[in-house]
Amino acid sequence: MKRLRVRLAAGLCALLAVVPLSGGALPASADDGVLTYEAEDGVLNGVQVETSLSGFSGTGYVGGFDTSTDSVTITIPDADAGLYSLGIRYAAPYGQKNATLQLNGAGLGEVTLTPSDTFTSVSAGKVLLKAGENIVTVVNNWGWYLIDAITLTPAPPPPPHEVTGELSDPEATPEAKGLMRYLTAHYGTDIISGQQAMPSIQWIEQNIGKSPAIAGLDMMDYSPSRVERGTSSQEVENAIDWDAKGGIVTFVWHWNAPSGLIDQPGKEWWRGFYTEATTFDVAAALADKDSADYGLLIRDIDAIAVQLKRLRDAGIPVLWRPLHEAEGGWFWWGAKGPGPAKELWRIMYDRLTGHHGLHNLIWVWNSVSPDWYPGDDVVDVLGYDSYPPKGDHGPVSTQYEKLVALGGDRKLVTLSEVGTLPDPELMRAYHADWSYVVPWDGSPQDGDSNSLEFLRKFYDDPHVITRDELGDFKHGGSDPSPSPSPSPSPSPSPSPSPSPSPSPSPSPSPSPSPSPSPTPGGCSVAYRTNDWGSGFVASVTIANGGVTPINGWTLEFSFSGDQKISTLWNGTVIQSGTQVTVKNADWNRTIRANGGTVDLGFLADYSGTNAAPAKFTLNGAPCVKK
Ligand code: CA
Repeated sequence: MKRLRVRLAAGLCALLAVVPLSGGALPASADDGVLTYEAEDGVLNGVQVETSLSGFSGTGYVGGFDTSTDSVTITIPDADAGLYSLGIRYAAPYGQKNATLQLNGAGLGEVTLTPSDTFTSVSAGKVLLKAGENIVTVVNNWGWYLIDAITLTPAPPPPPHEVTGELSDPEATPEAKGLMRYLTAHYGTDIISGQQAMPSIQWIEQNIGKSPAIAGLDMMDYSPSRVERGTSSQEVENAIDWDAKGGIVTFVWHWNAPSGLIDQPGKEWWRGFYTEATTFDVAAALADKDSADYGLLIRDIDAIAVQLKRLRDAGIPVLWRPLHEAEGGWFWWGAKGPGPAKELWRIMYDRLTGHHGLHNLIWVWNSVSPDWYPGDDVVDVLGYDSYPPKGDHGPVSTQYEKLVALGGDRKLVTLSEVGTLPDPELMRAYHADWSYVVPWDGSPQDGDSNSLEFLRKFYDDPHVITRDELGDFKHGGSDPSPSPSPSPSPSPSPSPSPSPSPSPSPSPSPSPSPSPSPTPGGCSVAYRTNDWGSGFVASVTIANGGVTPINGWTLEFSFSGDQKISTLWNGTVIQSGTQVTVKNADWNRTIRANGGTVDLGFLADYSGTNAAPAKFTLNGAPCVKK
């Protein structure tokens, strides 16, 4: 619901092309450490060797990429294991084309071949070769290009990072400085685990037996144009709870447009952060500082400042990521290009730090292109949101290197959202030092972005930091377990090696028993609504006060009038007249014992009055109404 998925589609079909991988060991020519492998010596599939365009190396080049499965497969017979820069020597006389690349049969992504009438070279990023034989395949994609050769150059390890950890806000609070020092000290060595949305965090805790270090939360439902329509939010309370448990918080803001909500099917008011769901024109609002719309922008920032002050007053530093994915254009703040987005960023920065005195913020910018970058003086961390094909655990190294370059390697770099997680081993091999990684809401439990096996491997990695390993991060990040070093060392110290974790006994995995267990008593239900006269949003929290977990649950209640649920999240619903039956989703079937909770919510319409249901039952037993 919260983001577009347009970036997922490209290239999948081409990756599925089946390519014969046998034969064709070739001699490489070496020049200054650059190894060249001629395409015309490769295994040709639907393509042919040509010689009419001069300037090729070897004995010719490969052309005729015109159907989707066309490919050339080039064998590297005897590589030394390691990281290499891959180059493609090509010509593209018919305009810009893309080629899909594979290494040893697995997807390597795409390379853009800019127009060129003569043979030229383009970098195709880094590749990790195994010792011995490796196979690179160029698959058609857009076709109509000519491939002369590929080149491999051993990639030296990158120089040490120059990240200082100094915050852009000179008045930053000690807690914000401490958190930044902590992140900086671990940068390049460790990966700080994160997870967006409390239900997904609970799922991780229940299924993996560990807590991510960072909770990803959202200011979305504090947006005034949502509050006006009845939303409420517990996200600040969630942040305060998380902080009390020793965790780090990051906030994004799905900023519902302040005005101009279209509010029609498919463009409902609650999708108002999407460009397509609002007529709000950020460029016009910023162009006239006396306009009503400009005033509404400031009103909204001020409303969020109220929430951020609650966090400040609780001593909580926030990794603050507003105006995210601006360069995508799918959110209204990015819909008018980089100029308005950058200006709005600076206005928000000044308003929050200056006018509101919010110095607990670490500012996370979330676009990669230099054209969109607001500047070093107002940015602390650079982020990229990565949604590769599901199950692709690649290190996202190309985007990593772009962000390092964007910040001159003086800014921390994060995967601020991911669908499929990167593999920590590949991150190390590629030197893709993402500081922290935040899987998006739902991606751990959707069943195919990340397998349970992969999630366990990720969380068990000795360099992945979980919440219990954070220690006193607000004061420079002393190591919690062995020796609480008294000195909050200001300099990036080598990582306090995460104690060889005596992993907390295998996860309390939800029992696979299909039949809902009876509630042993002690269930309670909190039911809250925000009402706008003809409809409402309900937030329902079920708590298990019993001493045994509940595995599978059915919540039943009756409406007092003609309320009719239109959308329900975190469960499945059947409504028959006034009678409502909600069953668990697959991933929240377990409610932990001794106070474990699950949250669900729904949108409903009504006429007349909207009293709360008189009673609730869980698995047939009555619950206390809170
Ligand atoms: Ca050639």
